[in-house]
Amino acid sequence: MNKKFVYYFGSTKTDGNRTMKELLGGKGANLAEMTSIDMPVPPGFTISTETCDAFYKAGSSWPEGLEEQIRDGIATLENELGKKFGDSENPLLVSVRSGAAVSMPGMMDTVLNLGINQETLAAITKRSGNARFAWDSYRRFMQMFGDVVMDIPHHDFEKALETVKKEQNVELDTDLDVDALKRVVDLYEGIYIASIGKSFPADPWEQLKLSINAVFSSWNNTRAIKYREINGIKGLIGTAVNVQAMVFGNMGQESGTGVCFTRDPANGENIFYGEYLMDAQGEDVVAGIRTPLPIATLDNTDAKSYKELLSLRDRLESHYHDMQDIEFTIEEGRLYLLQTRTGKRTVFAALNMAVDMAEEGLISKKEAVMRVPAESFNQLFAAILDTESKVAANSLTKGLNASPGGACGKAVFTAETAEEWKARGEEVILCRLETSPEDIGGMVAAKGILTARGGMTSHAAVVARGMGVPCVSGAGELHIDSEAAIMSCNGFDIKEGDIIAIDGFTGEVFAGEVQVRPSEIVQVLRGNMKREESVLFNNYEKLVGWADEFRRMDVRTNADTPRDTEMAVLFGAQGIGLCRTEHMFFEGDRIVPFRKLILVAEDVKRLEDKIAIETNGTAIKALEEELKEPLASYNEAIAELLPLQRKDFEGIFRALAGRPCNIRLLDPPLHEFLPQEEDGQKEMAEVMGVSVEEIAMTVESLHEFNPMMGHRGCRLGLTYPEVADMQVRAIIEAAIKVADEGIKVLPEIMIPLVGNVKELSISRERAQKIIDIVFAEQGKASDFISYQIGTMIEIPRAAVTADQVAEYADFFSFGTNDLTQMCCGFSRDDSGKFLGEYVKMGIYEQDPFASLDTEGVGKLVEIAAELGRKAKPGLKLGVCGEHGGEPASIKFFNAVGLNYVSCSPYRVPVARLAAAQAILEAE
Ligand code: PEP
Ligand code: MG
Repeated sequence: MNKKFVYYFGSTKTDGNRTMKELLGGKGANLAEMTSIDMPVPPGFTISTETCDAFYKAGSSWPEGLEEQIRDGIATLENELGKKFGDSENPLLVSVRSGAAVSMPGMMDTVLNLGINQETLAAITKRSGNARFAWDSYRRFMQMFGDVVMDIPHHDFEKALETVKKEQNVELDTDLDVDALKRVVDLYEGIYIASIGKSFPADPWEQLKLSINAVFSSWNNTRAIKYREINGIKGLIGTAVNVQAMVFGNMGQESGTGVCFTRDPANGENIFYGEYLMDAQGEDVVAGIRTPLPIATLDNTDAKSYKELLSLRDRLESHYHDMQDIEFTIEEGRLYLLQTRTGKRTVFAALNMAVDMAEEGLISKKEAVMRVPAESFNQLFAAILDTESKVAANSLTKGLNASPGGACGKAVFTAETAEEWKARGEEVILCRLETSPEDIGGMVAAKGILTARGGMTSHAAVVARGMGVPCVSGAGELHIDSEAAIMSCNGFDIKEGDIIAIDGFTGEVFAGEVQVRPSEIVQVLRGNMKREESVLFNNYEKLVGWADEFRRMDVRTNADTPRDTEMAVLFGAQGIGLCRTEHMFFEGDRIVPFRKLILVAEDVKRLEDKIAIETNGTAIKALEEELKEPLASYNEAIAELLPLQRKDFEGIFRALAGRPCNIRLLDPPLHEFLPQEEDGQKEMAEVMGVSVEEIAMTVESLHEFNPMMGHRGCRLGLTYPEVADMQVRAIIEAAIKVADEGIKVLPEIMIPLVGNVKELSISRERAQKIIDIVFAEQGKASDFISYQIGTMIEIPRAAVTADQVAEYADFFSFGTNDLTQMCCGFSRDDSGKFLGEYVKMGIYEQDPFASLDTEGVGKLVEIAAELGRKAKPGLKLGVCGEHGGEPASIKFFNAVGLNYVSCSPYRVPVARLAAAQAILEAE
C-alpha cells in the first residue's frame, strides 16, 4: 500500500483537522477543520507536505501512488458536486494554492479557475448564462497560470490588459465587455506562445499537474528560501498543495470576495474589520486597482451574506479561541469561506484582545498572559513615529534598533550643544560617532540618540534603554563630523539644526519631520492622563497583574537616579538590581571633584608606596612633605563627593520605599572620566586651575590598550580604597538617615569584576570595617540596617570558582555583559562590526550581547549558580546584565533558578511578562 498523500475535505468525508498543520499546512488543516464543523467551505483536497518532500527526494517527480490518489480526489469532488473535470457539459474548475505549516505570504501565488479551455468555457458560458464571467475567468486563469506556473513576467500580461482597456477607453477590468475580454485572451495566448514556444495547455490534467509541480518547486525558490531565512523558519519539510472546487466572486454584482479580521488587528477592538469587492476575484482586493469597501457596508449590498458572515465570525472565534483572519467569497448570494488562520496583530491589539478575551471567558488568564509577545511588549511604552508620516519622509539609513521609541528633532553633534539647545527649548537628536560617559548630559537632554558605531550593549544603547530614550546605534553608513557639525549619508547632508527622525523600533533614520505620538501608558503612569480615559492602560495593568500571579522570579531594575527609580517602581520594579554609581559622578558639576581626585590619585599612590618601603628617616620626611599637597587634594575631593553620593542614595532609598537596593561600587576605568579631546581638556584645565599639559599627561598615563580588562572594577577599589570607603560610608549614612525617617532600607553593596575570591575577601573586610565605624559614629546597633555584601559574577574565573567566592558573598549578581565579553572573547564595544555577519552565517543564532548565549555564557551561569548554592544554600542569585530584560534569556534564568532579573526601567514590564511566560511555558 502506498503512503497517504491526499487528504480530502468535503461533505462525504474529511481526513484532516486543525492539529495537522505540519502535515497539511496551515491552510489545509484549517480548511479540514472548518469543513468538519459545518462551515460553508467548498470541498477539495490537500496534498501533504510529506509529498513535497517525496517530490524533491524523487528528483522533482511524483512519488508512486500520488497520481492515483489525486485522480481519486478529483473523482470524489466530481461526485460530491455533480460536475466533471474537463467536461463539456458541467465542468469542474478548481483552485490550486500552496500552504506551509507556517504562513509564508508572497512565497507562492494562487492559481484560480483551473480547468478552463475552449470547450469548458463554452459550457460555463451556457450554464451561467454569463459570457462575460466565463471569459473574465479564462483570462484570469491564463494570466495566473502564465505568471505563477510558467514564470512569464506578470508585467507582460498587465501590459496587454492595459492596452485593451485603453482601446476600449475604460478604467476598470469590470468595464471590459465580452469582446474586449476575448481580445485580452488572444493577446495572452500570443504572450504565452512567444514565451513558452507552444500553445496554452488545453488539457485540464496537464494544467493541474503543472500547477501542483509549480507549487512544490516554489518551496525552494530563492524568494522562499530567503523568506524562511529572514523569519527564522526552520525544520519544515515542504509546502502542502490545496486543490479546491472553485466558487466565483466574479459572477456579477451579486458575487464578491473579501478579506476580514474577526477583530481589529491594529488596536484589538472587538469590531469586525476588513474589506471586500463585488464582482471580483481574490487578487483584486489586494492588487489595489479597485479600492475595496469597508466590510460594514456589505450590510447594504448583501444583508444576508453579511449577517451570515457575522455569525461565522462569532463561531470561528469561539471555536479557535483567537482572532481569525478569514477569506470569503460570495457566489451569486451564497457565502463561502476559503481560509481562516490566526490573525497577525500589533502588540497593542495583542494586549487589548488578550484581556478582552479573558474577560469574555473565551480564554483563561494564563492563555491571555501567553498571548502577548514579551519581545515586543516594550513597544507599548515608547513614543512612536506616526506610520503615515514615516511613509512620506525621506529615508536616510538604517542602524540597530537599540532603544525603542520614535523621536524627531534637530540634529546636534555634541553633548554640550544638546544641553544648550534643550535649555533654550529645542528638541534635539544627539548624533555621535559613539557616546561616552562624558556625553551623559547631552543624552539626557536629547529626544533621541543616533550613533554611527557601537552595538546593542554599547554605551549609547545601554544608557538610552535605561532612560527610555529612543536610540539607533551602529548606523555605519553615517559619516559624522562633529567638529564641522555635519553628517552625510546616502546623498543627504544633515547640518546642525536640520530636522531628523529616528525609529528605535526598527533602526530607521529619516531626514526631515516625522510626527511623534506619546505612549498612553506612560502618560497615565506619570499622572498626565486619567486612567479611566485609557483602555490600553487598564488592559496593561490587568495583564501584568495576571503575569505577577504566575511568575516565580522577582523583577528589579537597573537605575541610578531617583527619577529612574520612581519610573521603574511605577512599572512594577521590586527593587534595584544594579545602581551603577559611576553614572552619579557625571551628574551636574560633581565631575569636578572626581576629576580633581583622579589628577592626584596616582601621585598619592606612588608616594605612599615609596614611603612604605623607605627606611631612611630623612627620606621619609621629604616624601611625606611631598605627599602633603596631593593628599590634601585627594582627601578634599573625597570629602566633597561624600555628601553628594549620600544625597543620591537617600533619594533612591526614598523612591524605593522599602524595596531592596543593590549598589555597585565604582566600576569603569578612570580614563572614562577625563576628556579625551583637546577642547575638553582645555576646558577642564580652566575649571580646575591646572595646566592643559598636566591633564594631557594624566590622560596619557591612564591610557590602557585593553581598558575593559584593565584597571577597573574591584581593582580600583583595592588600589584606591579611599574611594570605595567613601562610597560604602555614603551608602550606610544615607541608609541610616532614611531609616530614621521611618522608611525601610535594604542596601546591598556589590563588589564588581571579581575574578579571584581574595579580591572579594579583602574588599569585603574593608567595607565591613567602614560599616562598623559608621554605626559606631551614629550610635546605632550593628543590625540597625539590614545590609548585605556580595559580588558580581562577570569574569569566567569567578564563575568556575563560585564555591570559593560564595564564602564571602551574601549574593551573586550575574553581569552577563562582561561575562559574554570575556566568555566569547568579543569586545562589547567593537564586536558590532562582525557579529551581524556571524549571525547571518549561523555561527551564533543571535547577537550574544542581546540574547544570552545559553550554551556558552549560560553554562557559566549554571555552573556558578550550582557551585555557589552548594557552598551556601539559599544564596541569593540575580542578573543585572542587559539580558535581564530579554525574554529568551529570562526563560533561561528562570530555568536555572535565579531569584530575580534586573533590567532597565522601561523593560520591567517586559520582564514581568516574560518571567510569567517562562513558568507557564514549562507547565
Ligand atoms: C555587566 O557586565 O553585565 C554589568 C551589568 O556591568 P556593566 O554593564 O556596567 O559592565
Ligand atoms: Mg560589568
